[in-house]
Amino acid sequence: MKHDSAALFERTAVHDVAVDIPLKQSEMVRIDATLAMIPKDVISVLDVGCGPGKLMARIDRPVVMGTDLGRVGLKRATKPVVRSSITRLPFADHSVDLVLCAEVLEHLPVELVAPACAELVRVAKRYVLITVPYRENLLESSSQCPVCRHVFHLHGHQQSMDVAKLAPHFPEVGKITVELVWKVRPWSPLLLKLRTFSFGLWKYSPHALCPACGNNRFENQETHLMYRLFSGINQLLRPVRSHPHWLLFRYETAEPTAPKP
Ligand SMILES: [Zn+2]
Repeated sequence: MKHDSAALFERTAVHDVAVDIPLKQSEMVRIDATLAMIPKDVISVLDVGCGPGKLMARIDRPVVMGTDLGRVGLKRATKPVVRSSITRLPFADHSVDLVLCAEVLEHLPVELVAPACAELVRVAKRYVLITVPYRENLLESSSQCPVCRHVFHLHGHQQSMDVAKLAPHFPEVGKITVELVWKVRPWSPLLLKLRTFSFGLWKYSPHALCPACGNNRFENQETHLMYRLFSGINQLLRPVRSHPHWLLFRYETAEPTAPKP
């Protein structure tokens, strides 16, 4: 990751800044499901992209440590941490039982996913556990800057992920286990385009920051009557919470890999 994108992530990472805000129910469900996917034989865990360590703090194993490129989150972490890029982890080959990478890969440019996954595999002795939003329609959490008109994802997500985009980056001989958790109501793609591009009504976040011009003054349009009308119509078109929100992807090596001497 480039350092300018690290700086941007620090400013836009609500996960880091809003550390005292209670976790949403969807996040609690994801965290519980993530912890449940850490096998019993795991002694050491490295959380890559740990931020302030909300997830890391809940991992009950003898050795738990984290790394992140952003400084803001690391300052708040309560477990041992080191600052590093996901593409250059300061850890030896196959030195950690399980390498965790939760809600990170979607923030990377597409071309960095392969080197990032290769680095997770390199450091892992036995498992790599990844969580990402599942097939996210990026427009759903996007906003448009009222100053420069730039359209951007409120949490800095750069791509939508699924199993097909992850699996090719892991050795075929290993075993992949997948879980999809927490269902949400998807937006009708056509209705969403109408709401955003035609009517100029965008999702709101109090932490919104335009990556193009730096503007951080955004009006909360979700309270507008028209926004709520669109939401109501979407609820009629999509009555069921049918879309899985989180993808949990665990790779297990074919056999335990011994650390290099
Ligand atoms: Zn702007």
